[in-house]
Amino acid sequence: MILKIKVDGDMDMRLIILGAPGAGKGTQAEYLSNRFGIPHISTGDILRENVRNQTELGKKAKEYMDKGLLVPDEIVIELVKDRLAQDDCKNGFLLDGFPRNISQAEALEKVLADLGQKIDKVLNIEVPDEKILERMSGRRICKNCGASFHIIYRPPKKEGICDVCGGELYQREDDREETVKRRLEVYHAQTQPLIEYYKNKGLLVTAVGQEEIADTTKEVLKALGVE
Ligand code: ADP
Ligand code: ZN
Repeated sequence: MILKIKVDGDMDMRLIILGAPGAGKGTQAEYLSNRFGIPHISTGDILRENVRNQTELGKKAKEYMDKGLLVPDEIVIELVKDRLAQDDCKNGFLLDGFPRNISQAEALEKVLADLGQKIDKVLNIEVPDEKILERMSGRRICKNCGASFHIIYRPPKKEGICDVCGGELYQREDDREETVKRRLEVYHAQTQPLIEYYKNKGLLVTAVGQEEIADTTKEVLKALGVE
């Protein structure tokens, strides 16, 4: 007898995850990606990888990223377009960090229309700015695989070392306080309007970010109507 195990991965799931920098998008995205068996596409991660590898794109992007500014739309849109056309995105994906403004959202719609797809849901994770500032200063990222930790909220088993791959953890250049403030300003000015935009399309669901990652995950699943 063949056991059919119920996997949520059977569902088509095309998700966008919205939230201020440091709202915990990346962490929840990793969870959802595993749970639903869909690729986690983080434009921030892809850009950082390009910076690390000193690609042409990475060199251009770095100037903006280090200042806490958005990388120009045409760069990011092209990158997402290529990524979404790959085979593993056929049955779903989770976009984290994209779109970041209305014009990226409109570009995304066109890209998806060409692929005969559309977004199923947009998950907004709400966290007040004060909390964000507190969190960002404790954030640590793996140099090797990009996994993210927090010295208080999600400490690695061994200080300074990644639980996933054993890589070295570091603080991102753009996680310094001044840069975080700038990123929050950019978020409020450019990204927050997307909440209204997707609400009007009937796609928006909201989860309130909690102190504990697991509690936020519960809110996220509730918002998505899973469990
Ligand atoms: P966070 O959401 O914590 O700010 P990300 O890892 O998503 O961090 O992004 C880091 C930086 O990468 C941003 O500050 C910005 O410079 C750049 N970036 C990422 N995604 C985009 C995007 N969709 N459009 C423009 N710039 C982006
Ligand atoms: Zn790692």
